Amino acid sequence: MAVYSIVKIGDPGDSVLREKASTVKKITPSIFKLLDNLKDTLYEANGVGLAAPQIGISKRVVVIDVGEGLLELINPEIIEYSDETELDVEGCLSIPGARGEVERYSSVVVKALNREGEEIEIAGEGLLSRCLQHEIDHLYGVLYIDRATRMLE
Ligand code: ZN
Repeated sequence: MAVYSIVKIGDPGDSVLREKASTVKKITPSIFKLLDNLKDTLYEANGVGLAAPQIGISKRVVVIDVGEGLLELINPEIIEYSDETELDVEGCLSIPGARGEVERYSSVVVKALNREGEEIEIAGEGLLSRCLQHEIDHLYGVLYIDRATRMLE
């Protein structure tokens, strides 16, 4: 287990933040290690979510903890979106010092694999919904600044 340095915009190697991450084909010990390292790095940074590309690993793996316990998601994808959206302020550990208003679906349902390789579904609303959408965006090389309707000072 280890705390990684988070790849930030402007760093050498920041192009990983713009790549489409690859699907995990098999859950091996290296995926367990990746999950552990993401968790340690997330908690060290006091974040609510972290995607593998943010530590330089272009795989479809994210961890999230919005205060309701750790979620480890492998190959997550959004399978349901609410009709309603909400506008709120977001930041990103890869873009220090910035915040912006982003419109997101109020609730989403995400399908993923857990570390046991079991298919799970997570229904999120509020902060969890926002965080799921933000982290899954990272897996497509999309950053919240691409979606922000307004950046804040
Ligand atoms: Zn982010």
